[in-house]
Amino acid sequence: MKISIDETLCTGCSICVTELPEVFEMGDDGLAKVIVESPDGDLVEKAKEVGPICPAGAINIED
Ligand code: SF4
Repeated sequence: MKISIDETLCTGCSICVTELPEVFEMGDDGLAKVIVESPDGDLVEKAKEVGPICPAGAINIED
């Protein structure tokens, strides 16, 4: 699994950070950042759930 954020789409709503702070954090620029690009264990399933809830479609998850 590899997680990335398209910063051209992210609106900084912070939903991903609220839902999964183990993987996402807000940057100083007001946009979300991925802090664990290749999570394992329980975080894999959680990331798959959080990706689609991004209202901007900015979270990309590759298997
Ligand atoms: S949920 Fe999407 S739009 Fe909102 S901060 Fe996270 S990546 Fe950005």
